[in-house]
Amino acid sequence: QCLQYNKRYCRSQNKRIALHYGKEHKMEKCIFCKIAAGEIPSNKVYEDEYMLAFHDISPMAKVHVLVIPKMHIANVDGITEENSEVIAKMFAKMGDIAKAAGITNGYRVISNCGSDAKQSVMHLHFHILGGQELPEKMA
Ligand code: AMP
Ligand code: ZN
Repeated sequence: QCLQYNKRYCRSQNKRIALHYGKEHKMEKCIFCKIAAGEIPSNKVYEDEYMLAFHDISPMAKVHVLVIPKMHIANVDGITEENSEVIAKMFAKMGDIAKAAGITNGYRVISNCGSDAKQSVMHLHFHILGGQELPEKMA
């Protein structure tokens, strides 16, 4: 199974089809798709064929890393049976990514989904927060 594609609505074919970003169809990539494709630079912590981890541009803790799937998934609501394999792979790497970022004493993983949660980038990402003692409130 190819995890690099995603079913999206295609205007020319008037239906949902599987497509590769930037290949079969010209489609505006979101900012994290551009980071995943290397079109926008990032301060990388870890990369493989499925995911990318990089430092948040506006850190909310001493260490603040974002882990994103290379395929476009909007948020937690977009996780399905079909694409969940890549999510499992991301969680399997979470501890190694935290360690690679210099976290040694625990961390918090957060994903904001939708409006009330103040999700600002509509491409699934897991925040890894650590490198310091975190406030007890909010998860
Ligand atoms: P959220 O509010 O959960 O959608 O988180 C989006 C996160 O992406 C914020 O913490 C931003 O600081 C971060 N962010 C936005 N643009 C970039 C970028 N170009 N490089 C790194 N982090 C970014
Ligand atoms: Zn995207």
